Amino acid sequence: MRRGETHAPDSAPGRNRLFVDIHTHVEQYDDSELPGVLQRAAEADVGAIVVAGVTAASSARAVALAHANPALFAAVGAHPQDLGGPLSDTDLGKLDALAGDEAVVAMSEIGLDFQPSSLSYGDQAAGDQKTALRAQISIARNHDLAVIWHMREATAECLRIMRDEKVGGLRGAAHYFQGSYDEASAVIDMGCKISLAKPLLRLPWLQDVAARIPLSAVVLETDSFPQPFKKNRAKWTEPRDIPLVAQKLADLRGIEVSEVMAATTENALSLLGARGEQLATRLGA
Ligand SMILES: [Zn+2]
Repeated sequence: MRRGETHAPDSAPGRNRLFVDIHTHVEQYDDSELPGVLQRAAEADVGAIVVAGVTAASSARAVALAHANPALFAAVGAHPQDLGGPLSDTDLGKLDALAGDEAVVAMSEIGLDFQPSSLSYGDQAAGDQKTALRAQISIARNHDLAVIWHMREATAECLRIMRDEKVGGLRGAAHYFQGSYDEASAVIDMGCKISLAKPLLRLPWLQDVAARIPLSAVVLETDSFPQPFKKNRAKWTEPRDIPLVAQKLADLRGIEVSEVMAATTENALSLLGARGEQLATRLGA
């Protein structure tokens, strides 16, 4: 949906009564953990989970998992933190081939990360990231895929590239958004979505942003991955935590959580476009 539009009255019955987690790394769980993660997500009304690779190899695992699990849908990409050098033509070729798979709904996780540890391997690191980002946006364009992007300590540069590449026309979302109202407005004004995650539960400025931006621009995610640094296994972030983020957003805006669910699911389907058709079918089933 675009800003200002209301929910389509002819939405398929059922599909807006489930959440979508538009960005996770559940491919990093081992095979013994995954069934429990998916079961707990289903019990929390999370009907569809996008699993994003961070390298060509993990993107291939994401695609394989999506074929094996009806609630999982894949995103493919090379994460800027994982580059460690120029993205090779071999890996670009693998990502391009994966992007055509019917289980793939987005290019992710791609973007820019200019924190010192991500730039430490050499002077060309920032340039490598920008080249890799543009090459992967090109893959997204060729396959009609949404771009769900990462930006850390690189917001202005990342938004410049998104604008230059006309990602808004392609469809996109700023993942794990923690920026200012002005940065959120810049993302929304270029036709992209704001993806909110658990930082909404604790960051006052993000709560202010989330209360003010149009609900039609918001999608939800957990960015979940195995967290062995948390000793209590029950405290690991999982897709089942989506309702916590949704409830917080509902409280901030003074609306019912069911309204947040309906709107963010509709927004997720709008974000994924035609490539999200199987995901939409899954929610409506
Ligand atoms: Zn991520």
